[in-house]
Amino acid sequence: MSTDIKSYIRTIPDFPKEGIMFRDVTTLFSDPRGFRMAVDQIVQPFAGQRIDQVVGLEARGFILGGAVAHQLSAGFVPVRKKGKLPGKRLSEDYTLEYGQETVEIHEDAFQPGEKVLLVDDLLATGGTAEAGIRLIERLGGDIVGCAFVIDLPDIGGRARLEQLGMDVHCLCE
Ligand code: IMP
Repeated sequence: MSTDIKSYIRTIPDFPKEGIMFRDVTTLFSDPRGFRMAVDQIVQPFAGQRIDQVVGLEARGFILGGAVAHQLSAGFVPVRKKGKLPGKRLSEDYTLEYGQETVEIHEDAFQPGEKVLLVDDLLATGGTAEAGIRLIERLGGDIVGCAFVIDLPDIGGRARLEQLGMDVHCLCE
């Protein structure tokens, strides 16, 4: 856990709608020291372990996940919102506060038994990450861990993923 990481993250009130305090990581990503620190801290618990694929959740999980994959000498696989992936894909629906969302993965993204690290910027309810986990598991991936920059602990996403047996790592709360 680092307090330093937090100093690079800005909070924008009332985005995307009134009453929401949006945690904005663009200021973390645009700072060379901050971005390196975040990627290094995500990688650190997995150094020396076999990771074949980093799966990043759209969209900020792509920015982090690409850098993490490079550092781990792993491949990168995107989990995208519905309708964006060109090849044959698997879909998972999940429930948001208002309505439903669907995420997809290419059905040939990796081989069964590959070691996978899931990465995203922020863990709130855990619904998005859980949909990603279901996709990875449907492909036979072996999930080594789930890593996030920010955990919003009051919302319960971490407990939800831990109940699924996941090893959850977050850089700050
Ligand atoms: P969850 O599915 O409720 O855990 O929400 C997490 C997803 O919503 C992640 O993909 C985040 O990128 C996004 N998200 C929710 N709240 C925020 C925020 O305050 N800042 C950045 N992303 C957020």
